[in-house]
Amino acid sequence: MYSAAAQREQDILALWDRAAGRARRQRDDALLTAAGAAATDSIGAGNAALLSLRTRLFGASWRLRAVCPICHTDCEFTADSAVLADGLAPPVDATPPRVAISGSELTLRLPALSDLAGLAAASDSATAARLLLARCLGEASPITFDQDALDRIEAELERCDPGAVVAFTLDCPDCGHTWQAVIDIAPALWAEVQAAAERSLLEVDALAREYGWSEAEVLALPHARRAAYLQLVGAS
Ligand SMILES: [Zn+2]
Repeated sequence: MYSAAAQREQDILALWDRAAGRARRQRDDALLTAAGAAATDSIGAGNAALLSLRTRLFGASWRLRAVCPICHTDCEFTADSAVLADGLAPPVDATPPRVAISGSELTLRLPALSDLAGLAAASDSATAARLLLARCLGEASPITFDQDALDRIEAELERCDPGAVVAFTLDCPDCGHTWQAVIDIAPALWAEVQAAAERSLLEVDALAREYGWSEAEVLALPHARRAAYLQLVGAS
């Protein structure tokens, strides 16, 4: 029987086993599956599920960083992933996205997580956005849109699934520039999972070498005792 902290560590290592060394898309899928998201969920619902998983594994306080687009200073800030997840809950307004273009009204399908799988081969984000749009337009996609139309479609999709893009208003401490930093939830969560898993493996390695304990034995140690042994062997 594991303590809550030990159980979280087991979950992090299990997630790392499933996703380490995989391509970005498969890694995202592994995280979304662990978060309990379904392929039919909206991208915002997927983000909310990832954030809830993050809160369960690491607590609500979330240290993030973004680079100032003007002076390139690395800005660190803290978010609350539990509060953030609540804010991304699927919108009550379930009407499909609609945009009036050239006098006719266009109805789109809201992108779902399953749509992202088809974008893995896209060479850049502009191509990915075009492919995603084509999927969401379905049969009504022969039209080539000008930038104004694309902007309005994007704004409408964002209105219908506001949780699809998670952004923070930041002030650069160095040059004072204010900007919207977009955080990609899955890669940010993966970076945390990877760092935590690697820390666990290093601790297992240090104690296994010193005391001859198995991985399971090291992982089963209460955290305070593990930290004490790590200090004794000079590994922390
Ligand atoms: Zn700056």
